[in-house]
Amino acid sequence: QVVTRFAPSPTGYLHIGGARTALFSWAFAKNQGGKMLLRIEDTDRERSTEAAVTALVDGLKWLGLDWDGEPISQFARAGRHAEVAHELVKSGNAYYCYCSPEELEQMREEARAAGKPPRYNGYWRDRDQSEAPEGVKPVVRIKAPLSGEIVVKDHVQGDVVFKAENLDDFIILRSDGTPTYMHAVVVDDHDMGVTHIIRGDDHLTNAARQIVIYNAMGWTVPEMAHIPLIHGPDGAKLSKRHGALGVEAYRQMGYLPAALRNYLARLGWSHGDDEIFSTEQMVEWFSLEALNKGAARFDFVKLENINGHYIREADPEYLYRVMIDTAREIGREDDTNGLDANHNTVLAALPELQPRAKTVLELIELAQFIYAARPITIDTAAQALLTPEAKQLLASVADTLRGLADWTVPEIDAAMRQLAEAKGLKLGKVAQPLRAALTGRTVSPGIFEVMVLIGREESMARLQDQIS
Ligand code: GLU
Repeated sequence: QVVTRFAPSPTGYLHIGGARTALFSWAFAKNQGGKMLLRIEDTDRERSTEAAVTALVDGLKWLGLDWDGEPISQFARAGRHAEVAHELVKSGNAYYCYCSPEELEQMREEARAAGKPPRYNGYWRDRDQSEAPEGVKPVVRIKAPLSGEIVVKDHVQGDVVFKAENLDDFIILRSDGTPTYMHAVVVDDHDMGVTHIIRGDDHLTNAARQIVIYNAMGWTVPEMAHIPLIHGPDGAKLSKRHGALGVEAYRQMGYLPAALRNYLARLGWSHGDDEIFSTEQMVEWFSLEALNKGAARFDFVKLENINGHYIREADPEYLYRVMIDTAREIGREDDTNGLDANHNTVLAALPELQPRAKTVLELIELAQFIYAARPITIDTAAQALLTPEAKQLLASVADTLRGLADWTVPEIDAAMRQLAEAKGLKLGKVAQPLRAALTGRTVSPGIFEVMVLIGREESMARLQDQIS
């Protein structure tokens, strides 16, 4: 059975790059009918607060990614990591090293002087323990191969060859008995039965070192897929400005999880030219071979377009919930209350609003006409439409509307057409200032629909606010 894992370090949020790694690990596991495990790499005790772990878990849940079993704490397994290190010493594949920081510095100096990369020279590799200095707590170092090659057989990068002479006898257990990251990852992946490791290609050189440990233990090396990191639109490393944010920032900007899943899937993986696909389709189509070799570029415009698609397709009741949750989360009290108090009206308006919004925030702004308090705020573009002549025209509009027997879209529509014709104007010339007066904007659903949505009394009152 295929077992993948997502192994984030708790940094306080689920980074967008981590979210993509998790998505791929998840999709592959689902595609194979396997499992995805979650391992929290919490060995850095300073950073690994409970809040940081919660942020990760919340981020994954919001994105709709689930995992099998309980999250595994790497820190909690420190005893097992030490046990394996000592086993490696016993089998002769690792050894105690007693070098002092000064001695290590000297080794690095010597290497530099000889024009070689600075590193440990294997001083204690074959030395007798009886030479150990007294009172020094040793570290444990792995015996890395001295010659030959280590090949990372990677599903994305192909065979990546590392010369053994470039790998030193790296530390697997510190003198205080805690494991190094390199060692802990191997022991955990093995014990968890991980068959496939999918992660960023910044871990490619680590992979070579990790293979040394697998081989020393006689363990099977899992299949590996190192995916190119996400870059900014300019090809440089992803910066905050270019989207290097936590997923909660995307939630607050008004992106739907389904849209983000779709977009992240396309960032580094492809299925022909398909841009829009459901998560079910992604799972069905997913393969490691279709992961892209080139770096993906983050593109906000593309993300917005995809998000717009998902907003158009979404169920209004669901969107309504997301709108309220988003408004509440970003502290927009007026919107939260307004949406809350106008459930039915917002629901009735949503099919008109959905095609006009690319984010949930835009959707909220488009819905504001429903609950805006009088006198409503008129934005600059709308203000420009409310010229003295337009206001005069609106006075005639108000007169006409007052005479209507019924307040329905066809009735209002007919009356406004008649009025426009009588004044020798196109319907738009009447509708535009009317929209500005009633919604405070130049974009809104059909203005007659708006009038029915907010009702006769409110429509007349808003109109009056602009005339007098
Ligand atoms: N904890 C590592 C990170 O956050 C990932 C380790 C791994 O996937 O092997 O970058």
